[in-house]
Amino acid sequence: MTGRVLVLGGTGEARRLATALVDDGVDVLSSLAGRVADPLLPPGEVRVGGFGGVAGLTAWLRAHPTAAVVDATHPFAAAMTAHAAAACGLTGVPLLRLQRPGWTPRFGDDWRRVDSLAEAATAVAGFESVFLTTGRLGLAAFAGLTARCLVRSVDPPEPPLPPRATVVLARGPFTVSDELALMRQHRVDVVVTKDSGGAMTAAKLTAARELRLPVVLVRRPPLPAGVPTVATVEDALAWLPDR
Ligand code: NAP
Repeated sequence: MTGRVLVLGGTGEARRLATALVDDGVDVLSSLAGRVADPLLPPGEVRVGGFGGVAGLTAWLRAHPTAAVVDATHPFAAAMTAHAAAACGLTGVPLLRLQRPGWTPRFGDDWRRVDSLAEAATAVAGFESVFLTTGRLGLAAFAGLTARCLVRSVDPPEPPLPPRATVVLARGPFTVSDELALMRQHRVDVVVTKDSGGAMTAAKLTAARELRLPVVLVRRPPLPAGVPTVATVEDALAWLPDR
């Protein structure tokens, strides 16, 4: 295809898409929010930092000719996804949402779905040892928990944290045996996660099933209306040449 593709990134899918496009000789610019101190960088050109809301992204798209935008941000990056839909609508730049499917329960799973981190905090009341794998932002929702909390994130989490928090810094992928060992070591009795989907961080769900632990799963925010959406990098690559 001709023209530049802007990939809104921060996910493994975004990196794989950028890799495939660079390999095909496509001019690709990957955009990262800049949240992670030492991000895994995709090949090709990379920019880091917010655009400045809908107005900022609209101005950016007007100033930088762009053949298409692929929003490959995380399923919970709802603000960026909404801004991309609005700015592409205003500028007429074609937009595709690339979002991996959520997880599906298997026999033996005890999943309790909630709509927000605040609801997740309510759902774990009464448990004694909570494994929080919801990422380093938004932990304030759990600050009132008196249970022991094991917090795992890539970079140090932002306070406020639950008063009895133990922080483990680690970046996936994780194996089932790693997750089993960690959950046993901390005598975890409930796991909290966002429905991020994908294989990189799914081992905790397998481990929870094996240990017969309940999992509180935060539902994804809805997708913006009218934006074509695909679930795989291959489908995104198939959509792009027509733009
Ligand atoms: P968000 O709440 O939707 O975004 C907040 C603001 O960050 C946006 O308004 C935008 O700032 C900026 N931003 C987000 N993604 C960007 C990108 N790819 N390029 C440039 N600016 C970006 O998103 P978030 O939840 O903070 O996630 C930030 C990044 O981390 C995303 O790239 C996402 O893919 C990745 N991530 C998120 C999660 C999660 O659970 N949320 C998990 C793993 C990875 P302006 O308004 O100034 O443009």
